[in-house]
Amino acid sequence: PITLSQTGFVHRDELTYPFEERGLQFGDGIYEVIRLYEGTGYLFTEHIDRLFRSAAAIRLDLPFSKEQAMNLLTELLKRNEMTSDGIIYLQATRGSAPRTHAFPGDVPANVYAYVQDMPRKTEKLTTGASAMTQRDTRWENCYIKSLNLLPNVLAKQAAQENGCYEAILQKDGIVTEGSSSNIYLVKNGAIYTHPATKSILHGCVRIRAEKFAGDLGMPFIEKAFTVDDIPDADELFLSSSTSEIMPVIKVDSSQIADGKPGSITRKLQYLYEQDAAITHMN
Ligand code: PLP
Repeated sequence: PITLSQTGFVHRDELTYPFEERGLQFGDGIYEVIRLYEGTGYLFTEHIDRLFRSAAAIRLDLPFSKEQAMNLLTELLKRNEMTSDGIIYLQATRGSAPRTHAFPGDVPANVYAYVQDMPRKTEKLTTGASAMTQRDTRWENCYIKSLNLLPNVLAKQAAQENGCYEAILQKDGIVTEGSSSNIYLVKNGAIYTHPATKSILHGCVRIRAEKFAGDLGMPFIEKAFTVDDIPDADELFLSSSTSEIMPVIKVDSSQIADGKPGSITRKLQYLYEQDAAITHMN
């Protein structure tokens, strides 16, 4: 496997990484996860736009333009002869420097990116997933896709220990998002989701979900819902690059409607597959 690194494209085994590194020591960096279907990137532009927004938000200079980033990632796919379903993981940090909190002087960002196989979660996409609500203990700037994922890690772990696929995060009863996804509630033919404020990550699939809702002539309402609204929901679903548009059929002890993926969620899943040019169920 070939990795994009500071020194260009290198074989994964040849890649070394310094331990005095700001991503490792402070989580002082940002990242992206881009979905690949049969080796082709989905929502590339949206991910690169968000990478640059995250970089600006933490005052990090990326060593490439958006166009160069696109070309580098395309080259990465080519060098790996990527033809399967997978992801690109890309991260950029404030570089390698002796440990001190304030920004180091003239230190270039560390950037690396690699590809990894990741089959579609076809079973859960078909039958639906369960989720568990938890308190959102994160900071105020969750719109930045930062490397600081400890609250997300702990929430996901607790969910999985309770047999759930995802943790639904809530602040004062208001649902913000999932530990690694955006969350939506369907009620009376309208889709509700937390507004794209600083309190949530503005998902690339979320942008598409809004468009698909428009295609279906359905209201997409950026208005937060509460944990108490969930048991009365007609449908619930989540979205992310790795989970696509996934039905949620159970939250805590409440089954959602009849416990099967709802018809609106299934229509959105269909539009997603069309949009991503998915031609196969593997
Ligand atoms: N919210 C959080 C906290 C995430 O980590 C993610 C992605 O992993 C998302 C939302 C969904 O973002 P996207 O649709 O760009 O994958």
